[in-house]
Amino acid sequence: MDLKIENRQLRQRLKELTQKAQENQATLGRFHARELELLSAETLPELFSSMTEGLKASFEIESLQLLLHDPNHEIRHLLYKNGLDENAFPLLDFVDDMVKVNPRFQRLRSPWLGPFLSPEYDTLFSDTLGLKSIAILPLIRQNRLIGSINLGSSEENRFSRQLATDFLARLATICTVCLENSVNREHILISGLTDPLTGLHNRRYLDRRLNEELARAGRYRHPLSCLFIDADHFKGINDNHGHQAGDAVLRELANRIRSRLRASDIATRFGGEEFALLLPQTCLDEALMLAERIRLEVNSQPIALDDGSSLRLSVSIGVSEARPLVSKTQQKADGEQLLVNADQALYQAKANGRNRIEFHLQDGVARNESTSGEG
Ligand code: GH3
Ligand code: MG
Ligand code: MG
Repeated sequence: MDLKIENRQLRQRLKELTQKAQENQATLGRFHARELELLSAETLPELFSSMTEGLKASFEIESLQLLLHDPNHEIRHLLYKNGLDENAFPLLDFVDDMVKVNPRFQRLRSPWLGPFLSPEYDTLFSDTLGLKSIAILPLIRQNRLIGSINLGSSEENRFSRQLATDFLARLATICTVCLENSVNREHILISGLTDPLTGLHNRRYLDRRLNEELARAGRYRHPLSCLFIDADHFKGINDNHGHQAGDAVLRELANRIRSRLRASDIATRFGGEEFALLLPQTCLDEALMLAERIRLEVNSQPIALDDGSSLRLSVSIGVSEARPLVSKTQQKADGEQLLVNADQALYQAKANGRNRIEFHLQDGVARNESTSGEG
């Protein structure tokens, strides 16, 4: 009889163990997939989405908060430089001082699991409702704490001190390495695609975005326009005031152009004293209005120079609009044509007296009456 009971208990135990093993296998599989997703994230937004919503879904937990130490706003600049909404990642928080958020970070160098205690751990989560147990995964790079991933569960035993933490530590390491890689990659991209003098994008960036924007315009049937802006008689500024003054004028010109743009507009220094603007969702008429606003912005106020003198700069602007329907095979040619058309219109603006705007239609150059010539 005893043997029978023992037998039944053993079978029950075996069933539980098998079930647990299957669950572990499933969890492991999910985490494997998550790890691969983390490792393959190509941009910071992709990575952050994987490190917040992605992990939260994998763990099937109530609360997750990613804290990142970012005292110089370096990561934020990289993240938001392309007009990304600052509220895009509600589970991500940037902090100046981790220890101020929680004194535990002073010493924490490996995952900590245990009961959720209020108010001690309140600052680790934006939502603490119903939390019973938590895991704090410090993100450590070369012995420096660069942030933490905080997991919170409504189950008391979900994160207990007895639980093995090696796989959580591994996850934290992967997140740390991915984060460092992405930040470095964004830095390299910026240094290769930005004009150091004006801070605008450079021509390589324009080439890259042109195809993307044409594809988008084609897909959603949105208009796309282009402006070529060239400073008038710029050589004379260098000749009369020196190269340094010329540089200062270029910076001021870039600022004045920038002040007239929307977040979605793409402004690049095309080369020398020439700027190219790509205007998504902007038709020719709107592009002409923007061109006129830029022309006035540049010309209406004199630019003060370091030597105490000042000068009144003017620009000539050429405007073109992309063909409404762009096929994939035509894209490259159409992109080049958009730039060529704007350049030809600019040439016409120069020929017609400078400090003015011309536009280019598919079938030829037409004059725009709303502009004033030089002199
Ligand atoms: P136009 O009205 O026909 O455009 O005359 P322009 O003098 O502006 O045009 P041109 O192409 O003859 O001269 C452009 C000058 O811009 C020559 C070049 O030395 C100067 N330049 C180009 N890049 C820079 C720069 O980064 N800094 C400074 N200071 N000058 C630059
Ligand atoms: Mg010029
Ligand atoms: Mg030029």
